[in-house]
Amino acid sequence: MKTGIPPLVIGNWKMNPQSVSLSTKLGTELKKKVSKTQGVNVVVAPPFVYLESLVRAKGASKAFTLGAQDVHHEKLGSYTGEISLSMLQSFSVTHVIIGHSERRKGGETDEMVNLKLTAILRAGLVGVVCVGEEKRDHGAHYLSHIEMQIRKALATVPRAKLDRVVIAYEPIWAIGTGNTATVEDIHEMKIFIEKVVSDLYGRNFAQKVRILYGGSVNGKNAQELFTHGMVDGFLVGGASLHAEEFAQIIKSVQNI
Ligand code: PEP
Repeated sequence: MKTGIPPLVIGNWKMNPQSVSLSTKLGTELKKKVSKTQGVNVVVAPPFVYLESLVRAKGASKAFTLGAQDVHHEKLGSYTGEISLSMLQSFSVTHVIIGHSERRKGGETDEMVNLKLTAILRAGLVGVVCVGEEKRDHGAHYLSHIEMQIRKALATVPRAKLDRVVIAYEPIWAIGTGNTATVEDIHEMKIFIEKVVSDLYGRNFAQKVRILYGGSVNGKNAQELFTHGMVDGFLVGGASLHAEEFAQIIKSVQNI
């Protein structure tokens, strides 16, 4: 964990839950459960269509802020089905997840991730860039894959904006499978990502980038992954749909 920068826990609701009333219920439960949490930045990234109801459910509470699961890089125009940054800003969205492996599988390229990140930072929001390998190989080629994902995402990002860049290491084989990476693997990857960013910007500036782990994090394993993986927080999928368990993950990070 970085000194002076609070840990960050993001809940990625993906395409869940199945109705606006269930979404409001989950948001309201979460607000109650994490209302006393201090020293952790908590972000909830629901489907776009639930943002408005969550703004209402959250009210003035500082328990969490809202995130988005994607964005289009253009400001406006003929992009059927897309959502712009100013639309997200009208719901006070603070963080935008980009390059999630589920979206990369659907065609999101490194170049698109870079365009999105550039637009997000220009708009003053935080960009959460997901990187991760499909599988590990003995020749460690997965490391060059991750390095390339980071270099391409950051290609146009100036030093001054690094404090609004988050890199989420999410090995694809760990997402939604119940198999987390080992704490050694997570720690090693954190050091590797820091080195890649340091090579680009220098060590001091690289310290500003928060590095998260994502992949089957739950209420039981969070504390160990956080303490020994030495990451700056988590990107959580499945477990973020259960207020009690998500709150448990947040507490694990807070207690360290
Ligand atoms: C994710 O989709 O970003 C994720 C980490 O999912 P899960 O926690 O369910 O593995």
